[in-house]
Amino acid sequence: MHANPVAAKPCATCGDLTGRGYPSCAGCVAEVDRPWLTAWAELPDADPERVADAPAGDYPWACVDWALRQLRCAGCGGELAAGAPDCVGCATADAARWELVPPTAHDVVLRAAVVALRAPTWRRQAVASTWRLLLPFVVAGAVPTGSEVREVRTQVVAGRYEELASVEVLPLEVPLLPWRRSTV
Ligand SMILES: [Zn+2]
Ligand SMILES: [Zn+2]
Repeated sequence: MHANPVAAKPCATCGDLTGRGYPSCAGCVAEVDRPWLTAWAELPDADPERVADAPAGDYPWACVDWALRQLRCAGCGGELAAGAPDCVGCATADAARWELVPPTAHDVVLRAAVVALRAPTWRRQAVASTWRLLLPFVVAGAVPTGSEVREVRTQVVAGRYEELASVEVLPLEVPLLPWRRSTV
């Protein structure tokens, strides 16, 4: 059961679908990060350290994320909550941010994608690749369900990333894998 098809738009900077170049393409970054920048701009006292250290609930989830983004981790020297995969300071900061749940399903998915793509080495490669495939559609307004995300990941694990990357409309319709064809 899928919602209406969602078409992704090309990025004028990298030429790929907008979001697929995140976070290395500046054009993709500008589109993807817009909700965080908007939330941060609305803060009257935008101080990354104060926002990151505040008790959960004092600031909106997007502001907490953006504060982490601007801070360096004292432990590993990377972006706080997205540095070395084995860094305790990053893991602690990352765990704290999830206490805040975005109010809309779209924001939940967008955030999951962005967090995964900013710290891809924290996760299995198929997880980051799945979010890379899906992010352009999320940017265009899609809210893939958990089962849709799992389905894409299954296909990625099966070696079909390139095939899926050529599809410009969600759901990503490519021929079923032979071993799946017999199960439906
Ligand atoms: Zn781009
Ligand atoms: Zn760290």
